[in-house]
Amino acid sequence: MFDFMDMSYDEPDEPIELGPYIPDAGECMRCGICVSSCPTFRLFRIDEETPRRRIRTISKLLVENLPISADERQHLDNCVQCRACETVCPSRMAYGQLFDQTQAQLNLKASVEHSKIPFAQSLSKGGRDFGMLTKWMVTLAFRLIENKEWLRRLMPLLVVYLKLGLQKPLRRSGLLKKLHLADAEALLGKPALQTLAVSYPANATKRGRVALFTGCIAEHFDRETLLAAINLLNTIGYEVLVPPQQGCCGAIHQHNGQSAAGLIDNNIAVFNALDVDAVLHTATGCGAMLSEYQNDDEAGQLFRQRLYDINEFLLKYWPDGLQLTASELKVAVHEPCSQRNVLKNQQAVYALLQKIPGLSISTLADNHICCGAGGSYMLTHPDNARQLRALKQQVITAASADVVVSGNFGCGAHLNADEHKVEHPLQLLARQLPVSVLV
Ligand code: SF4
Ligand code: SF4
Repeated sequence: MFDFMDMSYDEPDEPIELGPYIPDAGECMRCGICVSSCPTFRLFRIDEETPRRRIRTISKLLVENLPISADERQHLDNCVQCRACETVCPSRMAYGQLFDQTQAQLNLKASVEHSKIPFAQSLSKGGRDFGMLTKWMVTLAFRLIENKEWLRRLMPLLVVYLKLGLQKPLRRSGLLKKLHLADAEALLGKPALQTLAVSYPANATKRGRVALFTGCIAEHFDRETLLAAINLLNTIGYEVLVPPQQGCCGAIHQHNGQSAAGLIDNNIAVFNALDVDAVLHTATGCGAMLSEYQNDDEAGQLFRQRLYDINEFLLKYWPDGLQLTASELKVAVHEPCSQRNVLKNQQAVYALLQKIPGLSISTLADNHICCGAGGSYMLTHPDNARQLRALKQQVITAASADVVVSGNFGCGAHLNADEHKVEHPLQLLARQLPVSVLV
């Protein structure tokens, strides 16, 4: 008998779980299907600015252990991380994950080099040293979004700065530009100073209790959306908890090659400790990150099981008898990349808006092309971000809508810097509630 004809095999003790297949960077077929969906290719029209070429650079770093040139690094860094390429790739290339791994590796190398440059030297003008100063500012910004207490204490100073009209002279001085802070400063709106309450009771007969993810800066800079969310949830019968110990989702850290582990562990511990039916996020950028927390232990699984996008939650638990007041507004829906390409639940927004009688709802053209916000991209790559916003501006103007809605706070702030009227869909919905509950 031939041995190779023996088809018997030992049964494994444990069933083998086959997760989704994630090809490594070396498996890109170079088919080019991803090219036309890439916003940076739209801007530059060169192969170096395509996902295909970036995957090649990533492969050199992660798979082949080869050095990359300064040019390759720059084209890689130009990626907005919109992940539109992932959605069309026949090889199911996990571009977002590969990009984060690459940034982490590059940062590790860079941190060894930068740690040798003293801070005093970074203050000197010109060339690389001035770049170092900007990096110190970025580091400071990272520390601030990690520490909500520091952020809260800074807010009154910001209000004073805005009230005293210091913006104009500071802008004129050119200092903000030199520090690469001009774009960040232009995004500043008047912050809310008070923190949210820990609990908001249900207005109607109580159906349950949920927790609201507010992250790092939304509590101060996107207060209207959070209040709208609380108002809607209370109205449909849910008590809302806002745990003050929660923090930044970690997206900006992770996408810039820094460790988000501490932030992730903290959020999982804070929300898992609550006796709630669901944990809800209102900003799709944070939601995308929260939904991809990789922790595979019991705590990580519990966190993901209870995690919901607020639009989906409201839709699922919308009471039959709740009628919104009518509106004749014309609304265009902007679909953030984090919603289209990661959460993939943009239809929930349209379905919710349809609950407003008379509302005219349209889809913004070119929704598959990133607006340029890209988390911190609008600050780290202001020129590219501005050009992508200008393209979005053209489609917004062509839509001639009364209002544009976007489910991501970052996209809204970036687009509003161009004096558009972009708001979160929850704000629009909450205004149409028949009995508004002030919170
Ligand atoms: S679509 Fe996928 S396989 Fe094709 S070139 Fe782009 S990344 Fe490579
Ligand atoms: S993530 Fe977006 S910007 Fe980056 S390569 Fe893919 S499509 Fe282009």
